Amino acid sequence: MMDGRDPRTIAAANGIASDTNFGAVTPPLYLSSTYAFTGFEAHRGYEYSRTANPGRDLLGDTLAKLEGGAGAIITASGMSAVDLVLSLIGRDDLVVAPHDCYGGTYRLLCARRDRGHFDLAFVDQSDPAALAATLAKKPALVLIETPSNPLMRVVDVRAIARQAKEAGARVAVDNTFLSPALQRPILLGADFVIHSTTKYLNGHSDVVGGAVVAAAEADVEPLRAWANITGVTGSPFDAYLTLRGVRTLFTRVERQQANAAAVASFLAGHKAVAAVHYPGLESHSGHAIAKAQQNGFGAMLSFDLAGGVEAVRRFVEAVRVFTLAESLGGVESLVAHPATMTHAGMGPEARRAAGIGDGLLRLSVGLEAEADLIADLKRGLAAANERD
Ligand SMILES: *Cc1c(COP(=O)(O)O)cnc(C)c1O
Repeated sequence: MMDGRDPRTIAAANGIASDTNFGAVTPPLYLSSTYAFTGFEAHRGYEYSRTANPGRDLLGDTLAKLEGGAGAIITASGMSAVDLVLSLIGRDDLVVAPHDCYGGTYRLLCARRDRGHFDLAFVDQSDPAALAATLAKKPALVLIETPSNPLMRVVDVRAIARQAKEAGARVAVDNTFLSPALQRPILLGADFVIHSTTKYLNGHSDVVGGAVVAAAEADVEPLRAWANITGVTGSPFDAYLTLRGVRTLFTRVERQQANAAAVASFLAGHKAVAAVHYPGLESHSGHAIAKAQQNGFGAMLSFDLAGGVEAVRRFVEAVRVFTLAESLGGVESLVAHPATMTHAGMGPEARRAAGIGDGLLRLSVGLEAEADLIADLKRGLAAANERD
């Protein structure tokens, strides 16, 4: 539930100075796996840390408030958060997912479908006819991911959620790429918000974690129960670090997206670059929707190098500020080559169909000085442009 405070205040201060034992300003980290009963059949609300942990609960409460949901379950990874939502789905149900969803989500959905856990349909959600035809099959769950990875395609969450609900489906939005600082899917009609907290929420590339936020109170308990049954709840220490990251979420994201906008406009004007995919550019096909449903354009972008894979090799070996690595959302800038890294498992044909070329590079723009980022890209592009 929204609790009246500005989301910035919730991020910075939820749970601060709530310790009743010693007045600790920073909420304590309880590593204990188990809790003493106060008497026969009586305890203080905590029995065993798989089931519930004070710090993890505080992180869940904070994320639920930031997303405008009724409650949140903190999981051990983004993938276990996706899987937790799938626990609500039965054998005869149909799950609909975007054709260009996160690779790990694609793999999880296919693996469960292959075991007979549910039926599955992938659809291009920006194609109204294809979406309508799939919704006519009365799915139980529609997954949405916007902006998409790595091409930053944007879909209209409000419109898709409305149609999905008319068809009787629940709607889950993976909000990892933007975080609640820039997009709040529950306000757009989602029943569930999924996060890889590994990315912007923690923001320091030192935790793998996830979260599911439920819009309705009635959905919180079944998720909590299932997370306890399967044991996918996150560790107390990871929750502690993630909440520490959330304290600076808005400031980080604002700075990072300002850097990303500068990087995007620099790249868009460079002759070694064939195309730039950033929703903040007016030339981007999803610019208008992004402007309407997001509070900012984010700090992720991708671009095509004109020189193909050889240019890619020269670029990634020349840059020094951008680190060649998977993942995103941390304070440090990263560059990834989807064809050989994040999307290698898709195979060349599926990549071509999705529009992911061998010359495509994805950037997660960090907090470094803008001038250093641009100078580094200049160095990389100069190297990319050299002839052997
Ligand atoms: C990284 C990511 C995931 C998976 O999260 P993990 O924490 O790596 O398990 C899911 N969805 C999106 C959009 C991601 O970027």
